[in-house]
Amino acid sequence: MQNEIYFFDTYTRQKRLFIPLKPGKVRMYTCGPTVYEYPHIGNFRAYVFADTLRRVLEFNSYEVSQVMNITDVGHLTSNADVGEDKIELRARKEGRSAWEIAEFYTNVFKENLKLLNIQSPKIWCKATDHIPEQIALIKHLEKLGYTYRTSDGIYFDTSKFPSYGHLAKLNVRGIRPGARIEISPEKRNSTDFALWKLSPKDGKRQMEWRSPWGIGFPGWHIECSAMAMKYLGETIDIHTGGIDHIPIHHTNEIAQVEAATKKQFVRYWLHVAFLTIEGGRMGKSEKNFVTLQGIIDKGYDPLALRYLMLTAHYRSRLNFTWKSLRAAEKALSILRERITEWQGSDVNPDEELIREFKKQVNDDLGTPQALSLLWKMVNMRLPEDVKKATFFEFDKILGLRLKEAKSRIVTILPPEIGALLRKRDQLRGQKKWKEADQIRIELQSRGYKIEDTSKSTQVKK
Ligand SMILES: [Zn+2]
Repeated sequence: MQNEIYFFDTYTRQKRLFIPLKPGKVRMYTCGPTVYEYPHIGNFRAYVFADTLRRVLEFNSYEVSQVMNITDVGHLTSNADVGEDKIELRARKEGRSAWEIAEFYTNVFKENLKLLNIQSPKIWCKATDHIPEQIALIKHLEKLGYTYRTSDGIYFDTSKFPSYGHLAKLNVRGIRPGARIEISPEKRNSTDFALWKLSPKDGKRQMEWRSPWGIGFPGWHIECSAMAMKYLGETIDIHTGGIDHIPIHHTNEIAQVEAATKKQFVRYWLHVAFLTIEGGRMGKSEKNFVTLQGIIDKGYDPLALRYLMLTAHYRSRLNFTWKSLRAAEKALSILRERITEWQGSDVNPDEELIREFKKQVNDDLGTPQALSLLWKMVNMRLPEDVKKATFFEFDKILGLRLKEAKSRIVTILPPEIGALLRKRDQLRGQKKWKEADQIRIELQSRGYKIEDTSKSTQVKK
């Protein structure tokens, strides 16, 4: 049954009742990653959020068409249309081709999504697979008079689009040229942005294509507009991304689409806040760059990270600390132990609790409230089988794989033992039997007995 759902829409700065364009169906676009390096755990907050959002819609019986892009060209190191293409830069550093870099990090990203139990979108789309669509959209904008040419590309003239900057509440007139250092002197307005960049005259790029304007590559923003329209139509229900996308990337997406179609592009804009680490921004230069593999190597279950993310509302900043991750893993372990203890199956969940749960998540994704309801239930006087069935219903939204509680209970082991087990699994996967067996012997010497079944590995102390 579809109940009322409310979302906070960035465009109107209001919590609004969700009404999709077509009854029962939701068209949703999620800005995906730029595939040039290992993503850090902060990047995944946006995807755990989008996944939770999709699960809530599906829980309310909506059919969700989710599209996610892979940016494999055109994302420059500077937001001001100068600097280098992040992927080509990385390719040079690693001595591999840009195509290899993009493929490698796309696979890393998709593997990480699986570990976090994030469902695959209905459609994955790569920028490099949609060059003709992007060129067609630029040509259309050119015909309508929204573009101009400079020595290095084709630009969108933001002064021709009167509502430019509304999403970000930008005071466009207040932005003076030269306010940022890297603004090209050929830009008519400081907010103008590249639609098509020409390859440098003195050098050949690895990724470049012919176009009516010369050989080059698309600007970063045009890919999302072209692909969203191709797969979801000119007006879509929901667009998601991080709050860092608001002032430039999403502001430019709106300008491109609405200038071209004269229609509203997105009915609900949903943005997720940052994840910080130990109180600061995560980044390569800050040396606090934590990847998903990094937390696995320390013996943590990736789903503990998912749990941690659900404890904060998506619009509040979430501060990651190792202590908070340990607490999340502990909480998850207790849930798993309880579920394993509870007897019985094949009963109906408690309808009233489901209604209460739904009320929380339907109110702009109240996952912290939903989790506290779950904990309240742990100690409630309810038949164990009903509790279990209700937990499994909740988990359709939480995505913590509670049905696999028994086989995952291994995570209550000390982190170093968990890390050894995962290492052993990895070696067995690579058919390195001898090395894997050495780990078994080591675990045995520490008092852990290993039993392999066809489906899983059981560990007993
Ligand atoms: Zn995007």
